[in-house]
Amino acid sequence: MKLPSLNIQILLGAIFGVAIGLYFQSLGTENHVVQGGLYASGLIGTLFIDLLKMILIPLVLCSISVGIANLRQHQQMHRVWVSSLIYFTVTMALAISLALMAGNYFKPGSGLQITMFENAMQNFEAKQLPLPEFFAQFLHGLFVNPFTALSQNNVLAVVMFALILGITLVMGGERFQHIRALLAEALEVTMLIVGWIMRLAPLGIMALLIKLVTMQDVVMLATLAKFVAVVVGTTLVHGVIVLPLILYLFTRKSPLWFLRGAREALLTAFATSSSAATLPITMRCATQHLQVKPEIAGFVLPLGATINMDGTALYEAAAALFIANLVGIELSFAQQLIVFCIAMIAAMGAPGIPSAGMVTMVMVLQSVGLPAEAIAILLPIDRLLDTLRTTVNVEGDMVGSLVVQKLVMNKT
Ligand code: ASP
Repeated sequence: MKLPSLNIQILLGAIFGVAIGLYFQSLGTENHVVQGGLYASGLIGTLFIDLLKMILIPLVLCSISVGIANLRQHQQMHRVWVSSLIYFTVTMALAISLALMAGNYFKPGSGLQITMFENAMQNFEAKQLPLPEFFAQFLHGLFVNPFTALSQNNVLAVVMFALILGITLVMGGERFQHIRALLAEALEVTMLIVGWIMRLAPLGIMALLIKLVTMQDVVMLATLAKFVAVVVGTTLVHGVIVLPLILYLFTRKSPLWFLRGAREALLTAFATSSSAATLPITMRCATQHLQVKPEIAGFVLPLGATINMDGTALYEAAAALFIANLVGIELSFAQQLIVFCIAMIAAMGAPGIPSAGMVTMVMVLQSVGLPAEAIAILLPIDRLLDTLRTTVNVEGDMVGSLVVQKLVMNKT
Protein backbone atom coordinates (compact mmCIF):
# COMPACT_ATOMS: atom_id res chain seq x y z
CA MET A 1 0.00 0.00 0.00
CA LYS A 2 1.31 3.44 -0.90
CA LEU A 3 1.31 5.92 1.96
CA PRO A 4 -0.03 9.43 1.32
CA SER A 5 2.56 12.23 0.97
CA LEU A 6 4.32 13.44 4.10
CA ASN A 7 2.44 16.71 3.92
CA ILE A 8 -0.91 14.89 4.02
CA GLN A 9 0.33 12.52 6.75
CA ILE A 10 1.24 15.51 8.94
CA LEU A 11 -2.17 17.06 8.37
CA LEU A 12 -3.88 13.79 9.26
CA GLY A 13 -1.67 13.49 12.35
CA ALA A 14 -2.82 16.93 13.49
CA ILE A 15 -6.50 16.15 12.87
CA PHE A 16 -6.33 12.80 14.69
CA GLY A 17 -4.38 14.41 17.52
CA VAL A 18 -7.09 17.00 18.16
CA ALA A 19 -9.90 14.44 17.77
CA ILE A 20 -8.33 11.93 20.18
CA GLY A 21 -7.52 14.76 22.60
CA LEU A 22 -11.15 15.86 22.61
CA TYR A 23 -12.28 12.29 23.19
CA PHE A 24 -9.83 11.89 26.10
CA GLN A 25 -10.99 15.22 27.49
CA SER A 26 -14.58 13.90 27.52
CA LEU A 27 -13.51 10.71 29.34
CA GLY A 28 -11.59 12.66 32.01
CA THR A 29 -7.98 12.25 33.11
CA GLU A 30 -8.90 9.70 35.82
CA ASN A 31 -9.70 7.10 33.17
CA HIS A 32 -7.05 4.35 32.79
CA VAL A 33 -7.11 4.35 29.00
CA VAL A 34 -6.63 8.13 29.01
CA GLN A 35 -3.75 7.86 31.47
CA GLY A 36 -2.04 5.23 29.30
CA GLY A 37 -2.67 7.31 26.20
CA LEU A 38 -1.26 10.42 27.84
CA TYR A 39 1.84 8.55 28.95
CA ALA A 40 2.45 7.22 25.43
CA SER A 41 1.83 10.57 23.76
CA GLY A 42 4.09 12.27 26.31
CA LEU A 43 6.91 9.88 25.39
CA ILE A 44 6.48 10.20 21.64
CA GLY A 45 5.98 13.97 21.69
CA THR A 46 9.06 14.54 23.82
CA LEU A 47 11.11 12.25 21.63
CA PHE A 48 10.11 14.24 18.55
CA ILE A 49 11.05 17.55 20.19
CA ASP A 50 14.32 16.06 21.48
CA LEU A 51 15.26 15.02 17.96
CA LEU A 52 14.55 18.50 16.62
CA LYS A 53 16.56 20.07 19.42
CA MET A 54 19.40 17.63 18.79
CA ILE A 55 19.88 18.89 15.27
CA LEU A 56 19.03 22.55 15.94
CA ILE A 57 22.39 23.87 17.15
CA PRO A 58 24.59 22.22 14.49
CA LEU A 59 22.09 23.43 11.90
CA VAL A 60 22.15 27.04 13.11
CA LEU A 61 25.94 27.14 13.23
CA CYS A 62 26.42 25.69 9.75
CA SER A 63 23.54 27.43 8.00
CA ILE A 64 24.42 30.95 9.15
CA SER A 65 28.16 30.70 8.60
CA VAL A 66 27.75 29.05 5.20
CA GLY A 67 24.93 31.45 4.28
CA ILE A 68 27.11 34.46 5.01
CA ALA A 69 30.13 33.00 3.30
CA ASN A 70 27.98 32.53 0.21
CA LEU A 71 26.69 36.08 0.28
CA ARG A 72 30.23 36.98 -0.51
CA GLN A 73 29.66 40.42 -1.96
CA HIS A 74 29.78 43.01 0.76
CA GLN A 75 26.90 44.99 -0.76
CA GLN A 76 24.62 41.97 -0.82
CA MET A 77 25.38 41.11 2.80
CA HIS A 78 24.59 44.62 3.86
CA ARG A 79 21.24 44.56 2.07
CA VAL A 80 20.19 41.27 3.64
CA TRP A 81 21.01 42.58 7.11
CA VAL A 82 19.23 45.87 6.70
CA SER A 83 16.14 44.54 4.95
CA SER A 84 15.74 41.71 7.50
CA LEU A 85 15.91 44.08 10.44
CA ILE A 86 13.49 46.55 8.83
CA TYR A 87 11.09 43.72 7.98
CA PHE A 88 11.23 42.29 11.52
CA THR A 89 10.58 45.68 13.12
CA VAL A 90 7.79 46.76 10.79
CA THR A 91 5.83 43.50 10.99
CA MET A 92 6.10 43.37 14.77
CA ALA A 93 4.96 47.00 14.96
CA LEU A 94 1.94 46.12 12.81
CA ALA A 95 1.11 43.18 15.07
CA ILE A 96 1.29 45.29 18.22
CA SER A 97 -0.82 48.05 16.65
CA LEU A 98 -3.47 45.47 15.82
CA ALA A 99 -3.49 44.23 19.42
CA LEU A 100 -3.78 47.75 20.83
CA MET A 101 -6.61 48.67 18.47
CA ALA A 102 -8.55 45.49 19.23
CA GLY A 103 -7.90 45.83 22.97
CA ASN A 104 -9.18 49.41 23.03
CA TYR A 105 -12.22 48.53 20.99
CA PHE A 106 -13.35 45.30 22.64
CA LYS A 107 -12.02 45.99 26.14
CA PRO A 108 -11.66 42.35 27.24
CA GLY A 109 -11.40 41.99 31.01
CA SER A 110 -13.48 45.03 31.91
CA GLY A 111 -16.48 42.94 33.01
CA LEU A 112 -14.42 40.56 35.14
CA GLN A 113 -13.57 40.90 38.82
CA ILE A 114 -9.97 40.73 39.84
CA THR A 115 -11.05 39.12 43.13
CA MET A 116 -11.99 35.99 41.15
CA PHE A 117 -8.32 35.41 40.56
CA GLU A 118 -6.92 36.42 43.92
CA ASN A 119 -6.03 32.87 44.87
CA ALA A 120 -3.96 32.30 41.79
CA MET A 121 -2.21 35.64 42.16
CA GLN A 122 -1.33 35.11 45.80
CA ASN A 123 0.47 31.89 45.03
CA PHE A 124 2.47 33.41 42.26
CA GLU A 125 5.60 35.42 42.70
CA ALA A 126 6.65 37.37 39.64
CA LYS A 127 10.35 37.60 39.00
CA GLN A 128 11.57 41.19 38.90
CA LEU A 129 12.47 42.08 35.33
CA PRO A 130 13.29 45.78 35.10
CA LEU A 131 14.09 46.97 31.57
CA PRO A 132 17.70 48.17 32.14
CA GLU A 133 18.59 44.86 33.76
CA PHE A 134 16.86 42.88 31.03
CA PHE A 135 18.71 44.87 28.38
CA ALA A 136 22.07 44.39 30.13
CA GLN A 137 21.41 40.67 30.44
CA PHE A 138 20.39 40.43 26.79
CA LEU A 139 23.57 42.21 25.64
CA HIS A 140 25.69 40.13 27.96
CA GLY A 141 24.20 36.95 26.52
CA LEU A 142 25.11 37.82 22.92
CA PHE A 143 28.79 36.96 23.05
CA VAL A 144 29.63 33.71 24.76
CA ASN A 145 32.43 31.19 24.33
CA PRO A 146 31.14 29.29 21.28
CA PHE A 147 31.79 25.90 22.86
CA THR A 148 29.78 26.85 25.92
CA ALA A 149 27.01 28.27 23.73
CA LEU A 150 26.94 25.13 21.60
CA SER A 151 26.84 22.82 24.58
CA GLN A 152 24.19 24.81 26.41
CA ASN A 153 21.81 25.11 23.44
CA ASN A 154 22.14 28.89 23.57
CA VAL A 155 20.64 29.74 20.17
CA LEU A 156 21.19 33.50 20.27
CA ALA A 157 24.88 33.22 21.20
CA VAL A 158 25.39 30.57 18.51
CA VAL A 159 23.72 32.89 15.98
CA MET A 160 26.14 35.67 16.93
CA PHE A 161 29.20 33.43 16.77
CA ALA A 162 28.10 31.99 13.41
CA LEU A 163 27.70 35.52 12.05
CA ILE A 164 31.25 36.39 13.08
CA LEU A 165 32.57 33.09 11.74
CA GLY A 166 30.81 33.65 8.41
CA ILE A 167 32.22 37.17 8.07
CA THR A 168 35.72 35.89 8.90
CA LEU A 169 35.42 33.21 6.24
CA VAL A 170 34.44 35.85 3.68
CA MET A 171 37.35 38.11 4.67
CA GLY A 172 39.86 35.28 4.53
CA GLY A 173 38.76 34.32 1.00
CA GLU A 174 40.53 31.31 -0.49
CA ARG A 175 42.70 30.88 2.58
CA PHE A 176 39.84 29.29 4.51
CA GLN A 177 38.30 27.33 1.68
CA HIS A 178 38.65 24.03 3.55
CA ILE A 179 36.75 25.24 6.60
CA ARG A 180 34.09 26.65 4.31
CA ALA A 181 33.78 23.39 2.42
CA LEU A 182 33.65 21.46 5.70
CA LEU A 183 30.84 23.63 7.04
CA ALA A 184 28.96 23.41 3.74
CA GLU A 185 29.13 19.62 3.83
CA ALA A 186 28.14 19.57 7.48
CA LEU A 187 25.09 21.64 6.53
CA GLU A 188 24.12 19.07 3.90
CA VAL A 189 24.48 16.31 6.48
CA THR A 190 22.30 18.11 9.03
CA MET A 191 19.63 18.78 6.42
CA LEU A 192 19.60 15.10 5.54
CA ILE A 193 19.06 14.22 9.19
CA VAL A 194 16.25 16.80 9.35
CA GLY A 195 14.65 14.92 6.45
CA TRP A 196 14.68 11.72 8.50
CA ILE A 197 13.31 13.41 11.61
CA MET A 198 10.50 14.78 9.45
CA ARG A 199 9.25 11.27 8.80
CA LEU A 200 8.39 11.09 12.48
CA ALA A 201 6.56 14.42 12.33
CA PRO A 202 3.03 13.01 11.74
CA LEU A 203 3.31 10.84 14.85
CA GLY A 204 5.11 13.49 16.90
CA ILE A 205 2.57 16.18 16.06
CA MET A 206 -0.33 13.84 16.81
CA ALA A 207 1.15 12.94 20.21
CA LEU A 208 1.80 16.56 21.16
CA LEU A 209 -1.73 17.60 20.21
CA ILE A 210 -3.37 14.70 22.09
CA LYS A 211 -1.60 15.80 25.26
CA LEU A 212 -2.28 19.49 24.70
CA VAL A 213 -6.01 19.12 24.04
CA THR A 214 -6.59 16.61 26.86
CA MET A 215 -4.89 18.78 29.48
CA GLN A 216 -6.80 21.98 28.69
CA ASP A 217 -8.31 23.89 31.60
CA VAL A 218 -11.79 24.29 30.11
CA VAL A 219 -13.26 26.24 33.03
CA MET A 220 -10.54 28.89 32.93
CA LEU A 221 -10.86 29.06 29.19
CA ALA A 222 -14.57 29.83 29.46
CA THR A 223 -13.99 32.53 32.10
CA LEU A 224 -11.47 34.28 29.91
CA ALA A 225 -13.40 33.60 26.70
CA LYS A 226 -13.55 37.22 25.57
CA PHE A 227 -9.83 37.77 26.01
CA VAL A 228 -9.07 34.48 24.27
CA ALA A 229 -11.38 35.47 21.40
CA VAL A 230 -9.69 38.87 20.98
CA VAL A 231 -6.19 37.37 21.04
CA VAL A 232 -7.07 34.52 18.69
CA GLY A 233 -8.98 36.90 16.37
CA THR A 234 -6.19 39.49 16.09
CA THR A 235 -3.50 36.82 15.75
CA LEU A 236 -5.51 35.29 12.91
CA VAL A 237 -5.97 38.69 11.24
CA HIS A 238 -2.22 39.17 11.35
CA GLY A 239 -1.46 35.65 10.13
CA VAL A 240 -4.20 35.28 7.54
CA ILE A 241 -4.48 38.84 6.19
CA VAL A 242 -1.53 41.09 7.10
CA LEU A 243 1.40 38.73 6.47
CA PRO A 244 -0.03 37.20 3.25
CA LEU A 245 -0.74 40.74 2.00
CA ILE A 246 2.86 41.78 2.66
CA LEU A 247 4.00 38.62 0.89
CA TYR A 248 1.81 39.36 -2.11
CA LEU A 249 2.77 43.03 -2.33
CA PHE A 250 6.48 42.28 -2.33
CA THR A 251 6.71 38.98 -4.18
CA ARG A 252 3.36 38.52 -6.03
CA LYS A 253 3.18 35.03 -4.54
CA SER A 254 -0.29 33.76 -3.65
CA PRO A 255 -1.16 32.88 -0.05
CA LEU A 256 -2.24 29.39 -1.12
CA TRP A 257 1.10 28.70 -2.73
CA PHE A 258 2.74 29.84 0.50
CA LEU A 259 0.47 27.74 2.67
CA ARG A 260 1.16 24.63 0.65
CA GLY A 261 4.91 25.09 0.96
CA ALA A 262 4.93 26.20 4.59
CA ARG A 263 2.33 23.80 6.00
CA GLU A 264 4.74 21.30 7.58
CA ALA A 265 6.55 24.04 9.50
CA LEU A 266 3.33 25.78 10.55
CA LEU A 267 1.82 22.58 11.93
CA THR A 268 5.04 21.73 13.76
CA ALA A 269 5.12 25.22 15.28
CA PHE A 270 1.49 24.80 16.37
CA ALA A 271 2.17 21.46 18.04
CA THR A 272 5.54 22.24 19.64
CA SER A 273 4.94 25.91 20.59
CA SER A 274 8.60 26.52 19.93
CA SER A 275 10.04 28.49 16.99
CA ALA A 276 13.50 27.20 17.88
CA ALA A 277 12.51 23.52 17.83
CA THR A 278 10.62 24.13 14.57
CA LEU A 279 13.60 25.83 12.91
CA PRO A 280 15.03 22.73 11.21
CA ILE A 281 11.65 22.15 9.54
CA THR A 282 11.22 25.85 8.75
CA MET A 283 14.56 25.80 6.93
CA ARG A 284 13.59 22.70 5.02
CA CYS A 285 10.23 24.13 3.90
CA ALA A 286 11.74 27.46 2.90
CA THR A 287 14.58 26.01 0.84
CA GLN A 288 12.82 22.98 -0.59
CA HIS A 289 9.24 24.13 -1.14
CA LEU A 290 9.31 27.94 -1.15
CA GLN A 291 12.40 28.35 -3.31
CA VAL A 292 14.31 30.51 -0.87
CA LYS A 293 18.03 30.40 -1.58
CA PRO A 294 19.94 28.61 1.19
CA GLU A 295 22.17 31.64 1.81
CA ILE A 296 19.13 33.87 2.45
CA ALA A 297 17.19 31.24 4.43
CA GLY A 298 20.34 30.41 6.40
CA PHE A 299 20.54 33.96 7.59
CA VAL A 300 16.96 35.22 7.90
CA LEU A 301 15.33 32.13 9.45
CA PRO A 302 17.64 31.42 12.41
CA LEU A 303 17.82 35.12 13.24
CA GLY A 304 14.05 35.42 12.81
CA ALA A 305 13.41 32.40 15.03
CA THR A 306 15.19 34.17 17.88
CA ILE A 307 14.14 37.80 17.46
CA ASN A 308 11.22 38.11 15.01
CA MET A 309 8.05 37.23 16.91
CA ASP A 310 4.91 38.87 15.59
CA GLY A 311 2.53 36.61 17.50
CA THR A 312 4.38 37.11 20.78
CA ALA A 313 4.57 40.90 20.36
CA LEU A 314 0.84 41.00 19.67
CA TYR A 315 0.10 38.85 22.71
CA GLU A 316 2.24 40.90 25.08
CA ALA A 317 0.40 44.09 24.14
CA ALA A 318 -3.05 42.46 24.23
CA ALA A 319 -2.36 40.94 27.65
CA ALA A 320 -1.18 44.28 29.08
CA LEU A 321 -4.44 45.94 28.05
CA PHE A 322 -6.44 43.00 29.40
CA ILE A 323 -4.78 43.17 32.80
CA ALA A 324 -5.19 46.96 32.91
CA ASN A 325 -8.93 46.51 32.30
CA LEU A 326 -9.10 43.80 34.91
CA VAL A 327 -7.60 45.97 37.64
CA GLY A 328 -9.64 48.95 36.43
CA ILE A 329 -6.84 51.15 35.14
CA GLU A 330 -7.34 53.08 31.93
CA LEU A 331 -4.00 53.26 30.14
CA SER A 332 -3.35 56.70 28.63
CA PHE A 333 -2.05 57.14 25.08
CA ALA A 334 1.47 57.74 26.39
CA GLN A 335 1.29 54.57 28.50
CA GLN A 336 0.10 52.60 25.49
CA LEU A 337 3.07 53.95 23.58
CA ILE A 338 5.31 52.57 26.32
CA VAL A 339 3.50 49.23 26.07
CA PHE A 340 4.11 49.34 22.31
CA CYS A 341 7.87 49.80 22.68
CA ILE A 342 8.39 47.40 25.57
CA ALA A 343 6.22 44.71 23.94
CA MET A 344 8.52 44.87 20.92
CA ILE A 345 11.66 44.55 23.05
CA ALA A 346 10.10 41.82 25.19
CA ALA A 347 9.13 39.80 22.10
CA MET A 348 12.59 40.21 20.56
CA GLY A 349 14.20 39.11 23.80
CA ALA A 350 11.96 36.09 24.29
CA PRO A 351 13.70 32.88 23.21
CA GLY A 352 11.79 30.61 20.82
CA ILE A 353 10.64 28.15 23.47
CA PRO A 354 7.17 27.39 24.93
CA SER A 355 5.72 30.16 27.11
CA ALA A 356 8.83 32.35 26.80
CA GLY A 357 6.54 35.29 26.07
CA MET A 358 4.93 34.92 29.50
CA VAL A 359 8.26 35.46 31.22
CA THR A 360 9.21 38.61 29.35
CA MET A 361 5.66 39.91 29.73
CA VAL A 362 6.47 40.79 33.34
CA MET A 363 8.59 43.60 31.92
CA VAL A 364 5.71 45.00 29.87
CA LEU A 365 3.39 45.02 32.88
CA GLN A 366 5.95 46.61 35.15
CA SER A 367 6.71 49.34 32.62
CA VAL A 368 3.25 50.84 33.13
CA GLY A 369 2.86 49.93 36.78
CA LEU A 370 0.52 46.95 36.37
CA PRO A 371 0.74 44.08 38.89
CA ALA A 372 3.13 41.48 37.48
CA GLU A 373 1.45 38.77 39.57
CA ALA A 374 -1.56 39.11 37.30
CA ILE A 375 0.11 36.89 34.72
CA ALA A 376 -0.81 34.02 37.06
CA ILE A 377 -4.30 34.46 35.61
CA LEU A 378 -3.05 33.83 32.11
CA LEU A 379 -0.73 30.91 32.87
CA PRO A 380 -3.40 28.16 32.78
CA ILE A 381 -4.41 29.12 29.24
CA ASP A 382 -0.97 30.01 27.99
CA ARG A 383 -0.05 26.68 26.48
CA LEU A 384 -3.13 26.89 24.29
CA LEU A 385 -2.59 30.47 23.13
CA ASP A 386 1.11 29.74 22.59
CA THR A 387 0.23 27.34 19.76
CA LEU A 388 -1.21 30.03 17.54
CA ARG A 389 1.27 32.77 18.36
CA THR A 390 4.22 30.45 17.68
CA THR A 391 2.64 29.49 14.34
CA VAL A 392 2.40 33.16 13.39
CA ASN A 393 5.97 33.75 14.64
CA VAL A 394 7.21 31.04 12.29
CA GLU A 395 5.00 32.25 9.44
CA GLY A 396 6.48 35.73 9.86
CA ASP A 397 10.00 34.32 9.57
CA MET A 398 9.19 32.42 6.38
CA VAL A 399 7.40 35.38 4.77
CA GLY A 400 10.44 37.44 5.80
CA SER A 401 12.85 35.15 4.00
CA LEU A 402 10.81 35.48 0.79
CA VAL A 403 10.49 39.27 1.09
CA VAL A 404 14.19 39.74 1.85
CA GLN A 405 15.14 37.47 -1.04
CA LYS A 406 13.02 39.56 -3.38
CA LEU A 407 14.48 42.83 -2.11
CA VAL A 408 18.04 41.59 -2.44
CA MET A 409 17.52 40.03 -5.87
CA ASN A 410 15.89 43.15 -7.27
CA LYS A 411 19.03 45.11 -6.58
CA THR A 412 21.56 42.69 -8.05
N1 ASP B 1 6.57 30.00 22.10
C1 ASP B 1 6.92 31.16 21.34
C2 ASP B 1 7.90 30.80 20.26
O1 ASP B 1 8.63 29.85 20.38
C3 ASP B 1 7.48 32.25 22.19
C4 ASP B 1 6.39 32.75 23.12
O2 ASP B 1 6.22 32.22 24.20
O3 ASP B 1 5.68 33.67 22.73
O4 ASP B 1 7.95 31.45 19.23
